Amino acid sequence: MTEHQVHTCIHCGRDDEHVPLVIFYYKGGEHRICTEHLPVLIHKPHELTGKLPDLDKLHPIEDD
Ligand SMILES: [Zn+2]
Repeated sequence: MTEHQVHTCIHCGRDDEHVPLVIFYYKGGEHRICTEHLPVLIHKPHELTGKLPDLDKLHPIEDD
């Protein structure tokens, strides 16, 4: 018996049935974020505070 594991975006909670998910590794853990919210992780990681630890300490890539 195999369980279907549902993977969801850490930001919006949508699963891979609805959005493409990108897997990334952080602090030894495996996480997923959808392509729509990948820019949030890159440019505004502090908005994900509470979803992942210490994101407010990351240095976001500046747009300019
Ligand atoms: Zn998302």
